Amino acid sequence: MTIKKHNKALNFTEKRKRCVFIKKILEDSNNYIGQDNYPNIFNFLVDIFKTYHRDWNDKCKGHPVDRFIVQQASGQHTYCYYLVIGDTKVDIGMKGLRKNSYKDSVRKEDIKAACRSAIKPVIDKFKNQFNYPFECPIMEGEKFGRNDVDVHHFDKDFDTVVLSWINEKNNIDNICKKINDKSDENCDTHFIDEKLINDFIEYHNCNSKLLLLSKKGHKKVHSLNSAALLLIKSTSA
Ligand SMILES: [Zn+2]
Repeated sequence: MTIKKHNKALNFTEKRKRCVFIKKILEDSNNYIGQDNYPNIFNFLVDIFKTYHRDWNDKCKGHPVDRFIVQQASGQHTYCYYLVIGDTKVDIGMKGLRKNSYKDSVRKEDIKAACRSAIKPVIDKFKNQFNYPFECPIMEGEKFGRNDVDVHHFDKDFDTVVLSWINEKNNIDNICKKINDKSDENCDTHFIDEKLINDFIEYHNCNSKLLLLSKKGHKKVHSLNSAALLLIKSTSA
């Protein structure tokens, strides 16, 4: 396998395959990988490291990466990746890319997305209880169709409900294992375990207060300060 063969549309969905592939490039190349010579590999690496490397933000500090360099580490036989950012060269270890080491924040975003998919039937059912066109309490005088409404979580917002559920489960690794493997064609994130889906639905229903708003009104509510939000909660309760 030569480095040139890698420079085509890359679409790896399994983390294990990604790691094998990255190691392979590492062994094959003693050169740099940049936007100018291997654009697809470069973009792929940026994407993978950004998503899965626990030290990415620390290493880049918000600066765009110009190149990846693959070099023999001084005094060693092994090859290493370095990020070239302007005039600086920063090493970035493969260890940080291990299967389960991707950052907690990324994992929580995945879980949140899967939780949103899980409660979709609950949200749809809630919307169906109303008559349309719907008069939004926020947008006085305007009426809205079924497709122009949102369900707002008040008291606790949706993210808070998800985070407290994760804490209660006390096993984030286990939850992550039950999320579907996303590919480029299928960007939907959901749990693959029926029991976990039902568990979240039950937790959500016990811990959420729902309010139907127009999409327009919902946007407005989220842009209000907390004092104004409190007022809405007390008038709608
Ligand atoms: Zn909301």
